Amino acid sequence: MKKDKTLVLIVDDNKQNLKVLGNVLKENTDYNLAFAISGEEAFAYINKSLPDMVLLDVMMPGMDGFTVCSELSKNEQTSDIPIIFITAKSETEDIIKGFEAGGVDYVTKPFNDAELLVRINTHVEMKKSRDMLEQKNKELKEAYDKIEYLALTDMLTGIPNRRNITNMMNKEASRCRRNGGTFSMIMCDIDFFKKVNDTYGHDTGDFVLKRVADIIQKNLRQQDIIARWGGEEFLIVLPETMIEDGVRVSEKLRESIEKDTMEYEEHKFSITMTFGVAVYEQDLGIEKSIKKADDALYQGKQSGRNKVVQAHVKLRNSF
Ligand SMILES: [Mg+2]
Repeated sequence: MKKDKTLVLIVDDNKQNLKVLGNVLKENTDYNLAFAISGEEAFAYINKSLPDMVLLDVMMPGMDGFTVCSELSKNEQTSDIPIIFITAKSETEDIIKGFEAGGVDYVTKPFNDAELLVRINTHVEMKKSRDMLEQKNKELKEAYDKIEYLALTDMLTGIPNRRNITNMMNKEASRCRRNGGTFSMIMCDIDFFKKVNDTYGHDTGDFVLKRVADIIQKNLRQQDIIARWGGEEFLIVLPETMIEDGVRVSEKLRESIEKDTMEYEEHKFSITMTFGVAVYEQDLGIEKSIKKADDALYQGKQSGRNKVVQAHVKLRNSF
């Protein structure tokens, strides 16, 4: 938050008035005070430091108080600074004009010290409460964003987690229902991952998971999504992509993984992955479509690993 001490700017073209008002505040409050003898000088001051409150005279040569007030109200930087008019102009229409210009209060001269102080203190307190509320809201929003990020991200790899990609698939599926078309889903899994952990330790295993997420991400288009589905299993969603292209992408990923030499601490090794490719089929729904990708992956594992297996698709979706 900003400075603790309240800063009050007093604007009046009459120096005697500034002195009287300044003394009343000095004797009764611990506010920091600043003074300006014209609207122009007030703006020059406010450009340098923002007051918490402005006490504003109306009749001044040059820019008058109403103009100063409405200018401050229009500016986003200064619109929440409470402005109290302190003036000899006591006609009802002047008072109305003051409020219309954006003033929060209107005090006519000669004023009663105690009453004026109460009014000033009230608005200073309200301003402080608003500022605090705003700060708390900001903190709350930041905390909420953090929680949301944590809830939707796989902490090890930094990519979306299962819940996140499930949400995204639901969105893709409704888009397909509206506009037709389909999307590809690739379920893939690191071959013999347990052996990596057993041979080199879990730190190396974690490194491999991160490295794999990284390689896959680099080989995808911007609209594609990769998520850690669980353990050493990843799910990739390719929006608006038919199964042939899903297979092509998988083949490219399979090669990139196979070619990569992984280096962690003193170990140098390479790994392979097996891929099962399916598309979202409207009559099956998301879960059963994923199941088909999963079954294809299983087939790939059964028949030697390090390969891409395409699920059988009954109905060819067309765009
Ligand atoms: Mg004046």
